[in-house]
Amino acid sequence: MKLFSKNIALAILILLGMVIVWSFFADEFRGIEEVTLSDLVGEINAGRLTEIVVEGNNVTVTLLDGTVQKAKKEGDISLFETLTNYGASAEILRQMKIEVREPSGFLYWVGNLLPFLIPFLLIIGFFWFATRNVQRSNLQAFTFGQSRARVILPDDKKQRVMFKDVAGVEEAKEELYEIVDFLRNPGKFLAIGARIPRGVLLMGAPGTGKTLLARAVAGEAGVPFFYLSASEFVEMFVGVGASRVRDLFKMAKKSEPSIVFIDEIDAIGRHRGAGLGGGHDEREQTLNQILVELDGFESNESVIVMAATNRPDVLDPALLRPGRFDRRVVLDLPDIKEREAILKIHTRGKRVENEVVLRRVAERTPGFSGADIQNLVNEAAIFAARQNRQTISQQDLLNSIEKVLLGPERKSRIISEKEKKITAYHEAGHALVAAVLPDADPVHKVTIISRGRAGGYTLKLPSEDRRLISKTHFLGELAVALGGYVAEKMIFKDLTTGASNDLRIATDIARSMVARYGMSDKIGPVVFGKHEDAVFLGKEFGMHERDYSEEVAGIIDMEVSGFMKKAFRQAQSILQKYNNVLDAIAKKLIDQESLEREEFNTIVKSFGIKPKPIGL
Ligand code: ADP
Ligand code: MG
Ligand code: ZN
Repeated sequence: MKLFSKNIALAILILLGMVIVWSFFADEFRGIEEVTLSDLVGEINAGRLTEIVVEGNNVTVTLLDGTVQKAKKEGDISLFETLTNYGASAEILRQMKIEVREPSGFLYWVGNLLPFLIPFLLIIGFFWFATRNVQRSNLQAFTFGQSRARVILPDDKKQRVMFKDVAGVEEAKEELYEIVDFLRNPGKFLAIGARIPRGVLLMGAPGTGKTLLARAVAGEAGVPFFYLSASEFVEMFVGVGASRVRDLFKMAKKSEPSIVFIDEIDAIGRHRGAGLGGGHDEREQTLNQILVELDGFESNESVIVMAATNRPDVLDPALLRPGRFDRRVVLDLPDIKEREAILKIHTRGKRVENEVVLRRVAERTPGFSGADIQNLVNEAAIFAARQNRQTISQQDLLNSIEKVLLGPERKSRIISEKEKKITAYHEAGHALVAAVLPDADPVHKVTIISRGRAGGYTLKLPSEDRRLISKTHFLGELAVALGGYVAEKMIFKDLTTGASNDLRIATDIARSMVARYGMSDKIGPVVFGKHEDAVFLGKEFGMHERDYSEEVAGIIDMEVSGFMKKAFRQAQSILQKYNNVLDAIAKKLIDQESLEREEFNTIVKSFGIKPKPIGL
C-alpha cells in the first residue's frame, strides 16, 4: 500500500518535470526563431506579416511565406503602442489581424511559480522521507493514533521473521502452516465454504518464542502484522482500552489479509469474577470489546487474531469458546536437540571460533528457554569483547551458562547429576503409573526439563473429551500424582521437596471427591463448604467457607487421607511390580531428557505393557 502511493508520487514528479522541460524548449524544438522588436517593425512596414498573436508579453507572428517568429514586448504597454513607438506604421497595423490571447493557464502558472515551488517541493519531500523512516522504526505507533499498535509490514525486510528463524517447536509450526496457507490464499478456502479460523492462542512458558512465532506467521504469509501488548490496552485512562481494541481491529480489517497479535493476553483476559484483582472494570470492558470484535467478523474477512499467554489456566473461558480462540498451540521448553538448533540461530551472525561445539552447550542447559539461550550467547559475546578478543570461544559460552543460571528465577533448575537422576525417577514414576492404570489419562510426553517449580513434568491428556469424571478416574489420577513421590521413596529411600506440588494437587483432588462430589461412602451425598463456581482446581484460590461442624471436619479429613493412602498403595504396587520398567524409563530420561509419546510407548511395550490408544 505504502509502496504503491510512493510510486504514484514519483510518477507525478517525473511527469511534472517533463512538462516543464518541454514547455521551456518546445519553441526551440519547433524551430521558432526569436527576433527583436525592431526587426519585427521592419517586417511590418515591409508588409510581410499576415498575423500577430499576443500572449502576455510574448508576441508570435506569422510571415506571408508561413514562417513563424516570436518576440518579446515590454510589459504594461500595449502591443500597438510598443510597435508604433518603434516606428511601425499605424496604418498598416490597423489593417493587420492582431489576436490577443490570455496567457495559457497551466504553463504560464508553472513557469511563474516554479522558481518558488522547487524549494518547497524539496522541503516537503525531505520531511516525507524523514517521517517515513521514523515510522519504519519503533515509532510506528504514531501513525495509528489511538490504538498504539505497532505494525510490521510485509515489505519490511529488517523486522521480518520467518519460520526458519524459529528453531524447534515443530508441532506448533505445523499447526500454524495452515494459518499461513489461509492468509496467503483466502479465496481457496472461502470458495469451498470452509469456516475461516479466527483466533489462535499461543501458550507456553516465558521466552519459548511465542511472540517470535506469531511474527513468523505474518512473515511467512506476507501480511501486515499488528502488534499490541494487552497491558498497553489498559495502562492509561478508563474507557480507553475498549476504543483501542476497536481502532486496532478497524486498521487490521482495512489492510486484510492481516494478523492482529495481542501479546500477554492474560493481562486482560483473566477469568472474570474470579475475585482477584478487584473486578477491574476497565479490564473487563476491554475484554468484552475483544470478544465483540472476534464475534463480529464477517465470514469473508481474512483477519486472523493471534494471542499469546503463559497463563492459560487463568484465562476467561469465554475467550476459548468455538469461534474465538479455538485454535490452541502449545510451545514447550526446548529439549537438547532444539536447544542446539536455537544456539545455531543465535550464533549465526556472530564470530564464533571454529572448534565451538554447540551440542556441548545444549547438553548443559536443560530448562533454558529460547530467550535464555539468546541471552547466553549475548553474554558470551559481551565477555569476549570485554577481553578484547575477536571471536567467541567454547569457554565463553559455557561460562555464561552460569551467569544466566544465577540470574533470578533459575535457582531451582536442575544442574547436578544427582538432581537429574532424582527428577528422572520421579517423572518415570508418574508416567509408569499412568501407563499401567486403565483409568488414568495416557502419557503424551515425559521430560526432566524443569518448568516453573517442578523439576520436570509428565504430560497426560485425556483420551476423550470428557465432561463427567468418574470416581475410578479420580482414583487413578490420585495414584499417578503420587507416582513421583513413591518412586523417590522406593529408589532413594528419601524424599525431596520436588513432590510438594504433586501432593498439593492430590490432596485437592481427594478433598473435592469427599466434600464436593459425594464420592466417599462414609460421608455420602452431601456437599460441604461454599465454592465459587470454579470448574477446575486452578481457580479455587482457597476460598472455602466452612459450614460444617468440627466432627464432620474430622470425618472429611479421615476420608481424604483414606483416599490418599489407597492411591499410595496402588502406585507402590505398580512401581514394585514393574521396577525394571521404571529403571529403563529413568535411564532413557537421564540420557535424552524428554520422551515423546511414541518413544515412551516403545519402552513400555518392550516390557509387555500394552500402550494406551490415544483418542481425541
Ligand atoms: P515469549 O513471547 O514466548 O516470551 P519471545 O518470542 O519474546 O518469547 O522470545 C524471546 C527471544 O528468544 C526471541 O526474540 C528469540 O530471539 C529467542 N527465542 C525464543 N525461542 C526461540 C526459538 N525457538 N528459536 C529461536 N529463537 C528463539
Ligand atoms: Mg512474548
Ligand atoms: Zn511430580
